[in-house]
Formats: sequence, structure tokens, C-alpha cells
Amino acid sequence: MKLYARSAADLARSIRSKEHSVAEVVEAHLSRMERMEPILSAIITPLKEEARARASALDIALSRDENPGPLTGVPFIVKDNFCTRGVRTTCASRMLEGWVPPYDATVVRYLEEAGAVLIGKANMDEFAMGSSTEHSAFFTTGNPWDPRRVPGGSSGGSAAACAAGYAPLAFGSDTGGSIRQPAAFCGVYGFKPTYGMVSRYGVVPFASSLDQIGPFSRTLEDLLLAMEVIARPDERDATCSRALRPDFRKALDVTDLRGKRVGLVKEFEGYDIDGAVIESLRSAREILIDAGASVVDVTLPTVGHGLACYYIIAPAEASSNLARFDGVRYGFSAEADSLIELYHKTRQGGFGPEVKRRLLMGTYVLSSGYYDAYYNKALKVVAILRGEFDRAFSEVDFILAPTTPTLPFRKGENIGDPIRMYMSDLFTLPANMAGLPALSLNGGYSEGLPVGIQLIGPRFGEMEIFSAAAVIEKSLGLPRLAGGVL
Ligand code: GLN
Repeated sequence: MKLYARSAADLARSIRSKEHSVAEVVEAHLSRMERMEPILSAIITPLKEEARARASALDIALSRDENPGPLTGVPFIVKDNFCTRGVRTTCASRMLEGWVPPYDATVVRYLEEAGAVLIGKANMDEFAMGSSTEHSAFFTTGNPWDPRRVPGGSSGGSAAACAAGYAPLAFGSDTGGSIRQPAAFCGVYGFKPTYGMVSRYGVVPFASSLDQIGPFSRTLEDLLLAMEVIARPDERDATCSRALRPDFRKALDVTDLRGKRVGLVKEFEGYDIDGAVIESLRSAREILIDAGASVVDVTLPTVGHGLACYYIIAPAEASSNLARFDGVRYGFSAEADSLIELYHKTRQGGFGPEVKRRLLMGTYVLSSGYYDAYYNKALKVVAILRGEFDRAFSEVDFILAPTTPTLPFRKGENIGDPIRMYMSDLFTLPANMAGLPALSLNGGYSEGLPVGIQLIGPRFGEMEIFSAAAVIEKSLGLPRLAGGVL
């Protein structure tokens, strides 16, 4: 099998046994990236020379029999909102086009300490606002299954790169679905951990009460391996739990779900969902039943208000988080004669239209007179939704749901209609609002396009999700590497 088609676990094993050098592994992935990039445009900043230098340093360390980390020599990609010391971090925005952070995000540091090799920084929707990468200030990424379609977003570059074999592991951020929705569209695993499971230090914030960091992979084993490396306490992120994490990879051995209860959300039945998604859900349900699980209906009466509340809370928090981009300290700074003019011109010229829309909405709902009417009200609805999830999880161990209502849409199809674009996250954003872990996994293919399904667990219930995913993977097989169709 080509090196770029192999899993992270497999590559790490063959590097450890000296079957392959790190340089060989890195080179194979760089050349795959070089071949596919003209078609996909998934990467904002490739790091070829940096990766080669690091590969040879790792090969030297290995030749001295220094103890390699669990990911030694494994290439990885991060979304371009992860800070990387000495390497620009653009958030796909003109605002940060030339901004070079002086430090690494904790997750990047943990991955490098484990021996992984960063080979590129991926395209995304500007400041992670969007569902298609079409809001990138630089270019749109193609879906590796059909480049005329979008890869999803906002972590679309990471998902496409992982699916097409640039690297076995990629990382993104998920505020309302930005890992899971592109994972579904690109046919890979994409996991949003429980709020507090993974440090967000050094990842440019969008909506701090919702943001989480997580991995993309083409095998469940790789996903869990990545989680073991990144899901660790970090005193630099006060929201990051100090509790010991489980041995995630134990879930791989699960073959039997006897005694487990799977929840199906009653309210989701009324939604307009593509037939292929319904079909994949049905077969996943059968697989779970065959493994001994029982299926129970659960109700989340408030879930229908999720989208409206998300589009109050996320913009509100974004308007506060993005206030720092004013021309004084970070990135783009316009020519101006006064401080006020500096603010106006910098923000006018530095942000794209979707970011501006969010900032206007966010500022409005936080303004005096509207704060209670919108923002506080939305928070109350979220509290109710959380309670409904808690009740559901007293009856079931995990929930099976669609990841997205549709298959990957065409470039341009939703760009003029923000509400339709927002609808893409209907099934993903409830997990962010309730702080729950949720996984998108490939549930098959329809007319050459991948179909995603979602497993949602109780807070810190990642093992429930991973156990069910292990059973599904054993039955459906691994997702395919994309790119053969091009
Ligand atoms: N698509 C959603 C939005 O535009 C979610 C984005 C995200 O998770 N970062 O806000």
C-alpha cells in the first residue's frame, strides 16, 4: 500500500521498526499534497522545508535509539487558526494574512512532543465562520470526492487533506459543527470532544463557550491515538479539565453492545433529510441492534430552537473575541489619521462579508436594551436544552443522528443564502450548546459521495461513542481514501 494511504498507527509502527524512515514517510505525503493541491486547494501554508528538516532530525534521533513518541514521523495538518510559532496563522482572513504568532497552540506542542510532523496549515472559512470554506479570504477548497462540490466547513481544508491522503491526521475546531460537517462531506472521521476535554490554548477563539478542538482521521484507531496525545490537561486553558482521561484505544476491542441503549431523537424525524442520509442511519441502527444494543426514542423538545439560539450566542461571543483585531496589535493595520479612523478602516478592510455579518449581529444582541431580549434569552434556552439532553442520557448511553441534512453541495449553491448555509449545522450545533462529545463517521456512499452519520454522547462519555464506532467500523469497513475519482 502507498505510504500516503496508510494509517498513522501503521506508519508509526513501521517507523519504529525501521522499515521506513521518517524522511520517506514525510516525502510520500508531501508529494501526494503536491499532486492533489492543484485540484483541491486545501492548504494555505505548506511547510515542506520545515517538515523535511524535522524529518531528518527525527531520523537522527531514531538512529541513536532515542525513545520515540507514539506519533514519531507521522505527518499532520492543522487548520490555520492554530497558532504555530514562527509560521503565519491567518484564520483565512486578510486581517491576519501576515501575522506570525510567537508561540504554539498547546495541541500543536503535544503533537510535536509525541513526534508528529506538521506538514501544512489548512484552509478554512474566515475565522471559522461558515460551512463550506467559501468564506476563506483566499480561495475555496474542493471536495476530494468531487472538486466541483464543497468539502464543508469551516475546517474544510483539514477534512479534505485527510481524506485525500496529504496526512493521516488533521485537526480542526468545532463551534457549531466545523469538524463534524466537513468530516461527513469528505468521508472521514471527525470528532468534537466534550467541552473541557482538549486544551484550546493558542487556537484563535470564535465563540469561547462553544469552541472545541478535535481530530480528523481515516481510521478509528488513528482518531483514538490522536485523542490520547491531545486530550490532556493544560493549565493554560482554564476550561480544560484536570481529570485523568480514559485509555481511548480500549474502545477498539469492543465487539458487543449488549445492554447498551441507543437514542433516536424524535424531533429530528420531522426534518427535511436527504434519502441517502436516512438510508445510512438505518443501516447503522441495524448494525448496533445486531451487536446487541436496543433502540429507544428520546425527545429534545427545545432542539428546534437550537439554530436560532446558536446564531445569537456564537456571534455575540465572536463580537467580543474579535474586538482585538483593531489595527493596533495584530495583523492588518490601515493607514489612518486618528484612532477611530484606524479602527474603522482596519475592520472595514480586514474582515470579509460573513465575518462582518456575524460581528454586526453579535454587537446588536449584546447592546443595551437587546441584551436581555436576545442574548440572555438564548442562554436560558440553552440551559433548557442541556436539561433535556441530561434527561435523554439518563435513558440512553448515546444518540445516533444525522451529521448533516444533505450530501456535499455544489460550490456557489448556498453562498447567496446565509440561512441555507446555516442549516447545514442543524444536527451538529446542539452538541456544542450542551458541551457534549460527538463524532461524525462515514456511513457509506451515495452516487460517489460520502454520507456522514453522527454519534453523540453524554459529557465525558467519549468511550460510549468510541465503542459504538468500533462496532460500526468492524461492520462497514474503513472509509476509503479519496482522490481515485479525480
Ligand atoms: N458553520 C457554523 C458557523 O458558521 C459552525 C462553525 C464552526 O463550528 N466553527 O458558525
